[in-house]
Amino acid sequence: MESMKLTEIASALGADPENYTAAEITGVTLDSREAGEGSLFIAVKGDRFDAHDFVPDVLARGAAAVCERKIDGASPDRVIYVPDTRRALLRLAKYYRAKFDIPVVGLTGSVGKTTTKEMVAAVLSQKYKTLATQGNFNNEIGLPKMCFKLDSSYEAAVFEMGMSGFGEISRLTDTARPTIGIITNIGVSHIEMLGSREGILKAKMEILEGMPDSAPLIINGDNDLLPKGVEGIPNPVVVCGITCKEADCRAENIRQLQDSMSFVINYRGSRYDVNLPAVGMHNVYNACIAFACGMLLNVTPEQAVRGLSEYVPTGMRQKIVRKNGITVIEDCYNASPDSIKASLRVLRDLDCSRRIAVLGDMKELGSYSRAAHLECGAEAAANGTDVLLAYGPEAAAYVEGAEGKIPTALHFDDKRELVMKLCSMLREGDAVLFKASRAMKLEEAIESVYEVIGE
Ligand code: ADP
Repeated sequence: MESMKLTEIASALGADPENYTAAEITGVTLDSREAGEGSLFIAVKGDRFDAHDFVPDVLARGAAAVCERKIDGASPDRVIYVPDTRRALLRLAKYYRAKFDIPVVGLTGSVGKTTTKEMVAAVLSQKYKTLATQGNFNNEIGLPKMCFKLDSSYEAAVFEMGMSGFGEISRLTDTARPTIGIITNIGVSHIEMLGSREGILKAKMEILEGMPDSAPLIINGDNDLLPKGVEGIPNPVVVCGITCKEADCRAENIRQLQDSMSFVINYRGSRYDVNLPAVGMHNVYNACIAFACGMLLNVTPEQAVRGLSEYVPTGMRQKIVRKNGITVIEDCYNASPDSIKASLRVLRDLDCSRRIAVLGDMKELGSYSRAAHLECGAEAAANGTDVLLAYGPEAAAYVEGAEGKIPTALHFDDKRELVMKLCSMLREGDAVLFKASRAMKLEEAIESVYEVIGE
């Protein structure tokens, strides 16, 4: 972060600067342990703690603070009072972001946000020093934190925006002020809060609220709702896809190799060979979007192709591991119907003798949960899964959804029993997909299986 005077921060937050010291602030934090001389501590109430309790302590260590409630005995020239500290965090981040006249890519979607963000960053980094959202800093706390990481050395930024209800993307886009928007797709994540897929579309389209009319919006044109959803918007729309009629950026000649996807990107009539070190058609879509974003920002096609070839999958998102003749797809970071279907297709397209899907519960689907699990069970059957091992209370519906069309389909409440069953049947040539919501901790099962099958 570039330093700001406390007086400047006060005025950005609507307080009278005259009342404050001109102390230099070089960092904004919500963590009292990090706060000291030169930092601004924003007291945000969490689930377990009210950060206001730590304010006397951070002030004693030389920090300044932003608070909602009166702090007894605090020196008034270092505490800025606001009605809502969460809103103040966004407001200050917006003010700070506006200091940088650089391209900012704002990215949202039901699935594929983090992957696409990483691919966009890989492409843009070929030409620009690029700041990209770290980890899952994509909400009303995380996005401001990322904005404060900007400094004058950065030439571009990519900010991921997540949401679970209406109004969140609106506040995030108002803070980040994207000069390019991306919507990866409209699926069913968070449908409980938004009522319907049309509701999800509406919530994602809020991204336009923080963008000037001239700022392009990149979409996946093969999504069933997005092309209609963008009809009539003032912004230029850049369409990426594989099957849709009119795409600006289209993937052709797609082949799934052992650990990568090989395809040709046809960008407005010019063709470029791409080798992407990640598998699955969903990643081809993500890559097309990243390529198109690069083109909008004058990255050369050759640089964009190189950026995609250097993409490194992060965290527990879809990693393919081979051990003793068995192929394992580790994909335990999260799960939604869209991402389960994408992973089942990856399993289908793998070169192997038997396809085993270990699927745990998908969480946060509310009343849609049972239908979603049934649907994914049917999808497993339709994609040639030979063995389905379902784990968790909701997961029984996967087995039901498969309707006897998968030769072996079993449900487990106990992870150890599942692991024992799986290990007893595994043989050379098998491919195993592990996929579940984060809360199911399916990676523990993977570890146990590795102990048995060895290196
Ligand atoms: P998000 O950040 O939106 O939660 P991620 O990029 O972390 O999404 O991907 C989560 C999982 O979703 C991945 O492991 C992959 O299986 C799947 N996925 C990624 N991109 C897509 C996509 N475009 N369409 C469908 N599924 C996807």
